[in-house]
Amino acid sequence: ARVGPRSSEAFRRARDVFPDGTTRVTIERDPTPRYVSHGAGAYVFDADGRRFLDLNANFTTLIHGHAFAPVVSALEQQLRDGTCFANPTEKEIDLAALICERVPAIERIRFCNTGTEAVMFAIKAARAWTGRPGIAKIEGAYHGAYDWVEVSQSSTPANWGSRDDPNAVTFYRGMPDSVLFDVVPLRFNDPQRATELIGRSADLLAAIVIDPMPSRAGLIAPDPEFVSAIQAAARRHGILIISDEVLNFRQGYAGAAARFGLEPDLYTLGKIIGGGLPIGAIGGRASVMAAFDAGQTRPAVPQGGTFSANPMSMTAGLVAMQHLDEAAFARLEQIGDLLRSRLMHAIERRQVAFSVTGAASLFRIHPKRLPPRDFREAFWSKSEAAVMTELTRFFTAEGIVLPNGAAACLSTPMGETEIDLIVQVFEHFLSDRAQRMEW
Ligand code: PMP
Repeated sequence: ARVGPRSSEAFRRARDVFPDGTTRVTIERDPTPRYVSHGAGAYVFDADGRRFLDLNANFTTLIHGHAFAPVVSALEQQLRDGTCFANPTEKEIDLAALICERVPAIERIRFCNTGTEAVMFAIKAARAWTGRPGIAKIEGAYHGAYDWVEVSQSSTPANWGSRDDPNAVTFYRGMPDSVLFDVVPLRFNDPQRATELIGRSADLLAAIVIDPMPSRAGLIAPDPEFVSAIQAAARRHGILIISDEVLNFRQGYAGAAARFGLEPDLYTLGKIIGGGLPIGAIGGRASVMAAFDAGQTRPAVPQGGTFSANPMSMTAGLVAMQHLDEAAFARLEQIGDLLRSRLMHAIERRQVAFSVTGAASLFRIHPKRLPPRDFREAFWSKSEAAVMTELTRFFTAEGIVLPNGAAACLSTPMGETEIDLIVQVFEHFLSDRAQRMEW
């Protein structure tokens, strides 16, 4: 068995209460998920007492690792002071001010509880601003569970349509067709077609929703020409740009758009800004964010939420972000560069069919000789998927959690020791495999 008896037993109980035994589709299982007992810094411990270097970090959330001491002590105090109120607390102003100060384009911000909600409210604000219903999005990109952004993440190539004119593909049986009419899928890094497709449907489009480096679609950097094309098309047609940085805000002190020269009207944030507690945020130009302003009557877009801006999330987020100063980002960038270059070096030395993408503290290993340039190129054949399963299992056996098909990440408690370990295990995998099979 790949997991211990405690995890097996837990999964037996879980299957009686959850459809398929889990309560998050994203949980990795092979076929049994590994139940965790606790985490400490860069490591997680499973219910059977095994320790793993955690390169998942709850899907890139825990940029300081598990149970970060300053967050823990701040939360202990907040727990005693109460966990949620019907009134605002000053904590929310502190976290908002920190983010607004770091990202000049975020003049106003609102908090919610998840990235899904953030994306939903940002799209609603863009609709209110433009009076149009639709969005353009990158084929294969993940933005949470709001119907419009779920479109075109099909893992069935037959559904994709042509490269020049990707199909808007439903995400679940029964999804209203009307959703499809309001979504224009774009191929990543194809500036000319993006310009044409946006132009063709401009009357319909409220926003272009773009994660500058969509992780599920390959964690691939945008070409400068693509960024300029998106920017120009948006400006020409009065369409807003929503930079979904729920995951990629961790790319730098001012986030990912700043890194790639994109100038969004709205941002969606989540993950790291909650310090390990649930969070989401919508931020952007004051004029657009005015959609949430109730003024004397009712806002264009009412946005509330029982737990929105709860002081636990605000406290954890504030402390975590305060510890993420420019030096911390520079260090993460440096160990990320080191890791990616050492992995690529190992690949080149053996001339094997792998490549590495990513930036800052994020990376993805692809079972492809050339780094993919979009979702279609990043998509795995059956045999490539088998290679990745083998790679993930090998890492697990060596005590490292390596996300399979999603972004892997480094965190501030990691250093050269952890980089050495990751590279060693990867090299070990390559030589082990080289002995068993032909490349
Ligand atoms: N957008 C992006 C880019 C994401 O990576 C995610 C989560 N992985 C979401 C939105 C949804 O966030 P949440 O899981 O907090 O709803």
